[in-house]
Amino acid sequence: MKALFVEDAYLSTAEARVTTVREDGGIMLDQTCFYATSGGQPGDTGFLERTNGEKIIIAGTVTGESKSEIIHIPAPGQPVPEAGEGAVMHIDWERRYNLMRMHTACHLLSVVCPYPITGAAVSETDSRIDFDMSETIDKAEVTAKLMELVNANHPIFTQWISEDDLAANPDLVKSKNVRPPRGQDRIRLVCIGEGSAIDSQPCGGTHVSETAEVGEIHIGKIEKKGRENRRFRIRFGPAPD
Ligand SMILES: [Zn+2]
Repeated sequence: MKALFVEDAYLSTAEARVTTVREDGGIMLDQTCFYATSGGQPGDTGFLERTNGEKIIIAGTVTGESKSEIIHIPAPGQPVPEAGEGAVMHIDWERRYNLMRMHTACHLLSVVCPYPITGAAVSETDSRIDFDMSETIDKAEVTAKLMELVNANHPIFTQWISEDDLAANPDLVKSKNVRPPRGQDRIRLVCIGEGSAIDSQPCGGTHVSETAEVGEIHIGKIEKKGRENRRFRIRFGPAPD
């Protein structure tokens, strides 16, 4: 199973071959542009187009036993494909693009608020990030700093490093509880700014390629979740007056 979204987050359609149809109905393909739920980013929806033109609506995408196993979950009542048949994959691009923008916004927030992250969830309309911090911070100030990064239109790119490189630079990892999986020969860094000047951190999600694509965002709310935990919500659009 080749995960095409790892190298190209903008691939919304591609051809594939069905390798397995699981007992639970989950469809596995030889390659996929469907992102599987991971790291706080929901999996893709969309459809598979069979050679006879029939559509198989995909309601969600998840990982299986291992992260490299990607399972496409059909909506109820869809036609069941045969192993070996070809299909054209189509992801719901509008939804995915909003998730890419929101996910990228989370990276920008981690630049503005350089505290350890204890949790994160991305959705099409908003995101939340939990930080291990006790300071009180002004949301208008955070919004202004986020928009500075968006408007500067910094490039976003990926870079592969070895596990040893990561071990030598432990500060790259901002997540307090989640460590990048060990035992892999390479780890993907998501870098922001020329020469990673703004940020770089391990991440397997999908991102836009320039910060301006995030568009206008604001901090909707900062909640106090315990003495040392602050929950930030990022929303699309201008801050309400
Ligand atoms: Zn990411």
